[in-house]
Amino acid sequence: MSVSKRPRPEPRPEIMAIAPYVPGKSGVAGLAKVHKLSSNESPLGPSPNAIEAFRANAAALASYPEGSSRLLREAIGRRFGLEPERIVCGNGSDDLIVLLAHVFLSPGDEGLYSQYGFLEYPIAIRAAGATPVTAKETRDTADVDALLAKVTPRTKLVFLANPNNPTGTYLPFSEVKRLHAGLPADTLLVLDAAYAEYVTRNDYAAGMELVSANENVVMLRTFSKIYGLANLRIGWVYAPEPIVDALNRVRGPFNVNGAAIAAGVAAIEDVGHVAAAVAHNTRWLLWLSEEIARFGIGVTPSVGNFLLLQFPATAGRTAKDADRFLSARGFVLRAVGAYGLPDRLRLTVGTEEANRGIVAALGDFMAAGGKS
Ligand SMILES: *Cc1c(COP(=O)(O)O)cnc(C)c1O
Repeated sequence: MSVSKRPRPEPRPEIMAIAPYVPGKSGVAGLAKVHKLSSNESPLGPSPNAIEAFRANAAALASYPEGSSRLLREAIGRRFGLEPERIVCGNGSDDLIVLLAHVFLSPGDEGLYSQYGFLEYPIAIRAAGATPVTAKETRDTADVDALLAKVTPRTKLVFLANPNNPTGTYLPFSEVKRLHAGLPADTLLVLDAAYAEYVTRNDYAAGMELVSANENVVMLRTFSKIYGLANLRIGWVYAPEPIVDALNRVRGPFNVNGAAIAAGVAAIEDVGHVAAAVAHNTRWLLWLSEEIARFGIGVTPSVGNFLLLQFPATAGRTAKDADRFLSARGFVLRAVGAYGLPDRLRLTVGTEEANRGIVAALGDFMAAGGKS
């Protein structure tokens, strides 16, 4: 019996070379209640004002949203002292990561990022037909010299998550400026500051002044993390005028929905809610770091709302064993094997109950050698 080979539509080969993004698990089979500590969501949730604005938008579902997210860009502009004309909003910052890659990368070009950089970057680079290039990190931190050593005439885009996910580490602004200074003028530096609000170090900056002063730097931000609006999908980019112009030509004409625009405005104006989220995170990030390190689990110093934990290679105490043990107790962490970190798990700072619970569970795990 011969199987007829009928032609069929074939995706571009580089599309099929993409390893699909695997989101953090959200549940455990058989458990009704779990603490989801796998996606860096806010344990405080969104501002009540944002929820109210979202509900109020229900009356407008039949109408197209305002296509340029004008009200949201103006609210962001007021909050950060930026010109709304230099902001583009997206359906999550993922939307903008993909658009930036499509706009600035051609087949044959290279997109550069650090060894443990956010996994959306190689996906976007490949989807644009370009080649992803990585530079080794030093102590789980992006290394400016290593990045600059990988720059070639084909490097058209450099993605830097600062702080980085999944490591939680950051580059001081002096290092970001040194990276920028070493890049050719026609290479775009994308500063992805998804966790900027959480950082309490005075040598950190999200990069707005670098965007303002240069033609080849953009800064990405999101409402998914500290604003607690991951489900609504809102991101934005602050960029030089020619880049704004290019992005506006290719983005979906209604890429941010009306409920997202309304809730985003309410969220960014609730400065008190953001301050409460920072205070909660600062307190519990430190507490979790100290308590977990006492068990002999490696904890990468983090300035975000999550911690990268390194488990020993000892049989029964590996990251895989820990994932199984913790899941059975209702704690869902993020496996990061896809990042080349098979001995680690990423833990999001949660509610007080979740934080105390995960520390108790990790203590039991290390004491029991993984036997539940
Ligand atoms: C979570 C995250 C984002 C945000 O993605 P959204 O699409 O806005 O939800 C962007 N960059 C990094 C590094 C992240 O961890």
